[in-house]
Amino acid sequence: MENKPSSEAVPENANEHCPGVESQNAGKSSSCAGCPNQSLCASGGMKNGINQTAVETEQIKEAMKSIKRKFLVLSGKGGVGKSTVSSQLALTMALCEKDSVPQVGVLDVDLCGPSIPTMFGLEGYQLHQSNLGWTPAYYEDNLAVVSIGFMLPNKDDAVIWRGPKKNGLIKQFLRDVYWGDYLDYLIIDTPPGTSDEHITIVQYLKNVDIDGAIIVTTPQDVSCNDVRREINFCKKVGIPIIGIIENMSGFVCPNCKNKAMIFKPTSGGGQQLAIDYEIPFLGSIPLDPMVMQSCETGKSIVKDHPESPASQAMKEIVQKIITHKKNNQ
Ligand code: ADP
Repeated sequence: MENKPSSEAVPENANEHCPGVESQNAGKSSSCAGCPNQSLCASGGMKNGINQTAVETEQIKEAMKSIKRKFLVLSGKGGVGKSTVSSQLALTMALCEKDSVPQVGVLDVDLCGPSIPTMFGLEGYQLHQSNLGWTPAYYEDNLAVVSIGFMLPNKDDAVIWRGPKKNGLIKQFLRDVYWGDYLDYLIIDTPPGTSDEHITIVQYLKNVDIDGAIIVTTPQDVSCNDVRREINFCKKVGIPIIGIIENMSGFVCPNCKNKAMIFKPTSGGGQQLAIDYEIPFLGSIPLDPMVMQSCETGKSIVKDHPESPASQAMKEIVQKIITHKKNNQ
C-alpha cells in the first residue's frame, strides 16, 4: 500500500505529543501513529541488525566536523519572517571584519516553501554534484547557500514529497553538502511549526554538537502561542535555545521617525515569552520596507542601510548569537 503524503499521514497534533526521540516510548506511543519516523524511532534506528541511525549520525558528524557553529532557526508559524531573519543573519555574519573573513553557510530545509534562493538573489541556480559532494551556490566567496529550491526545475513547483523521501533529503543535505575546508557559522532554516522534518533534523543533529535554536516570533498572541509549542518541543528533544527574536516589532515611520506598534503585543510578545521560559531575548527587529526590499533583491540591509533601526537591531542580535556560549560554558 502506498504511503500517504506526510501532511495527511501525520495527525495535526502529532508533534505536540511526540514522546521525543530519546524516550523509551519513541515510536511506540499512540501519538506516533502515522508519523513517518515511527518505525525508525521504534526500532531505535535498527535495520538488518545494523543501527542505521548511529551509522548515519556518524556520517553526518564527519561531514559537519569542520563547521564550528551551527544554529537552527525556528518559528511557530509561517509568515513571521523566519527566512528573512535567517538570510539577514547570515549576510550580517558574513560581513568581513578588519582582519577576518568569516565563512558562513545557509542550509534551507524549509521543504514546503523554500524562499532562501530569492532572498539571496539565487533563483534558478541548480545544485551540482562533484566527487566531494553537493556544491553550494556562492552568494559571495565566503557565503555558501544550499536550498531545496535549487532542486526544483521550476520555482513555482510545489514540494509534495512523502515523509520518507523528505527525511532522506534532509539527511542528504546534512551529510552530502561539501561546505569547503571549514565554516565558521551554519544557519539552518527549518519549516515553520514542529513537523516531522524537525524530528528528523533533531534526530541527526543531536550528536553533532549543535549550538542551539534561534526562535523567531512576531508580537501578536497568535504567533507567541505557537512559539510556546516550539519552545516545549526544543525542551523535550533536548535542543538548547539560544534565544528569541521578535520580528515586525513596531513600525518606525521613515519621515517622522515615530514608532507605531502595528502588531500589538497583547500578552507581552517575545520579551514576555523570554521571561516566562527563562531564555534570552535577543532583540526586536522593526517592520521596515527596506528589510522587505533587501530580501526581494537579495541584498544585506546591514551593508546597504547600516544606520537603519533594523540594521542596528540585526547587528546587536548577531553579536549576542556569536558570543553565546555553547551549553552555558
Ligand atoms: P517566513 O519564513 O516566516 O514564512 P518570510 O521571511 O518569508 O517569512 O517573510 C514574509 C514576508 O515578510 C516577506 O515578504 C519579508 O520580506 C517580509 N518581512 C519579514 N520581516 C520583515 C520586516 N522586519 N520588515 C518588513 N518586511 C518583513
